[in-house]
Amino acid sequence: MTSFKEFADTCEAIEGISSSLEMTALVSSFFQRISESDDPDTELPIVSRFIMGRIFPEWSAVELGVGPSLLYESISRASGMPLRQIKQLVRETGDVGEAAKIALEKKKAKLQRTFLDFTGGGEADLEIADVFERMLAIAHASGKGSQQIKIKHLQYLFGTASPNESRYLARLVLKELRIGVGEGIVRDAIAQTFEEDVDAVERAYMLINDLGEVAVTASHHDLSSVNIRIGRPIKMMLAQLGSFDDITEMYAVEWKFDGARVQIHKDGNDVRIFSRRLEDVTNSLPDVVKLVKSQITADQAILDGEVVAIGSDGKPLAFQEILKRFRRKYDISAMVQKIPLYLNLFDIVYLDGILLIDCELHLRREKLDAIVQSHEHLRVAEQTCTDDPDVVHTIYQNALDAGHEGVMLKNPDSVYSPGKRGKNWLKIKPIMETLDLVVVGADWGEGRRANLIGSYLLACYDPDTSEFLEIGRGGTGITDEQLSELTNLFSQYIISEDGKTIELQPAVVFEIAYEEIQKSPHYASGYALRFPRLVRVRFDKTPEDADSVERVEWLAGRI
Ligand code: AMP
Repeated sequence: MTSFKEFADTCEAIEGISSSLEMTALVSSFFQRISESDDPDTELPIVSRFIMGRIFPEWSAVELGVGPSLLYESISRASGMPLRQIKQLVRETGDVGEAAKIALEKKKAKLQRTFLDFTGGGEADLEIADVFERMLAIAHASGKGSQQIKIKHLQYLFGTASPNESRYLARLVLKELRIGVGEGIVRDAIAQTFEEDVDAVERAYMLINDLGEVAVTASHHDLSSVNIRIGRPIKMMLAQLGSFDDITEMYAVEWKFDGARVQIHKDGNDVRIFSRRLEDVTNSLPDVVKLVKSQITADQAILDGEVVAIGSDGKPLAFQEILKRFRRKYDISAMVQKIPLYLNLFDIVYLDGILLIDCELHLRREKLDAIVQSHEHLRVAEQTCTDDPDVVHTIYQNALDAGHEGVMLKNPDSVYSPGKRGKNWLKIKPIMETLDLVVVGADWGEGRRANLIGSYLLACYDPDTSEFLEIGRGGTGITDEQLSELTNLFSQYIISEDGKTIELQPAVVFEIAYEEIQKSPHYASGYALRFPRLVRVRFDKTPEDADSVERVEWLAGRI
């Protein structure tokens, strides 16, 4: 059995390096040690996920369900340090892991003073598999009293872990390990450890969507046996932002429907539906299940599409209305009547025992057309193949007039790439809704901008905790003249300076445009903006009027 200490030590070693080759080597030697332990088949999947800051497999919708407040409460109980002080430590260090470590070091020092023979917070007692079992119990705790159950398990873990283990345990709980190990490094480390081809590892990952299981399969040198499994969602192919200038060759053009992505698995009479986040939403969508059963003629299929809710005016309803359908747990049939859904299918990745991800799009479409019997509520998305920007523009305008988002341009010869955002699918849509964000930090510029404050650190607001949660940095879209006006404005709000870095009192709200909202472990909000640019300063807004993390989450789900 491998100790959690060994995991924490590996994380610590990785944290000190920046070369991904060196990181891969460290992860690989850790995997090697695990594969020589008593139970590698149990431990390998756990560590391959933990090392990326994940607890459960990518395909699984199981969530730990522990937010910062529950975590702080547990650390407080385990360390005996008042909650208020824990929160202050988090604020000062900007890292819940560091805060947990300090809190538990203090407890240890106190105990050592009291009992001279005290040897520590049960160091080396905690095993990796124990930690996972506790996490599973935390995730499964539900209903009345579940918060207390979660706290009890966490309190046990923090009470047993050494201060250094607590550092990584706390970060793991918030899925923010911050050591820079992502899927790519784990994939390469698996290949390195078990002397397998990186492409074979990548492909197995694409098909079963679980690097933990891929690691075990690779350790048995059995990657070639891996196949897609009906009932287990795979990552969905994603689109990149495009423009009309991209239309220099043939594209298959479809409407970009304003709805919610669904991946549908049909196995005979058994139909499962997964959301974009790969949650199983089957039970909330009995109408869609029924349609699939009656209108899809194939016995087995994995289909990709978008469900749209249409209002009485014939226009798509807001995304939140669809979410109401997805999240509904009771009175489902009333909801089916109230918010009817329309399914637009646009892709197929598996058909009657045959994997289609390596097939070109135009062939996949043929297969899709062949198995769908259209219905008022279900059809294959209309597609036009063209290289004429004017034709695309007309389709785009029609889509917008119908209340949809724009168009998708798809390379007709492209394969289906699960989880990949690339040039083979381009989306064209009008400029996105802006976000109002608070400026909580900045940097002094360099060179001729040395006396100017720029590179603003932006944050959204969390009304539940009254905290400002960082979401990224932005400094573009600002002229030198504006910069100097903004420098004057911000100089009154400087809290502290450290070299070029400035901490600012949250006071000024920027309206920010951006190209994309992405999930990111680097910022406290859990999101980051791509290409943020200043539209204007919202002098009319207080920091608390800034957009909430909930709205960011909602917009991120819509994009
Ligand atoms: P992305 O912004 O990368 O998530 O990709 C575009 C999103 O648009 C997809 O996730 C779908 O939810 C949605 N969408 C709407 N219509 C289509 C379509 N015809 N083809 C692909 N995706 C579509």
